[in-house]
Amino acid sequence: MAAPIRICAGCGRKAPRIELLRFAALDGELTAVPESHGRGAYTCRLASCFERALVANSFSRALRTAVRVDPALRDLYTDADG
Ligand SMILES: [Zn+2]
Repeated sequence: MAAPIRICAGCGRKAPRIELLRFAALDGELTAVPESHGRGAYTCRLASCFERALVANSFSRALRTAVRVDPALRDLYTDADG
């Protein structure tokens, strides 16, 4: 049984979807959503990947639309203090 593979918007690593955090654009704002219709963007569960994606504007590219990214989303990443 093949797990769906997605690409991290930060480091470009391919990983099973369940290992990644999923985001979508809701009203032009990047929002963490486990499931939703439409296009998603993914990152590893590493704050460094979030920051790389933020700096490189990879979320907007992955979602094919301009999204605002709240830096507080970094709090979703459990390694933020490590
Ligand atoms: Zn990554």
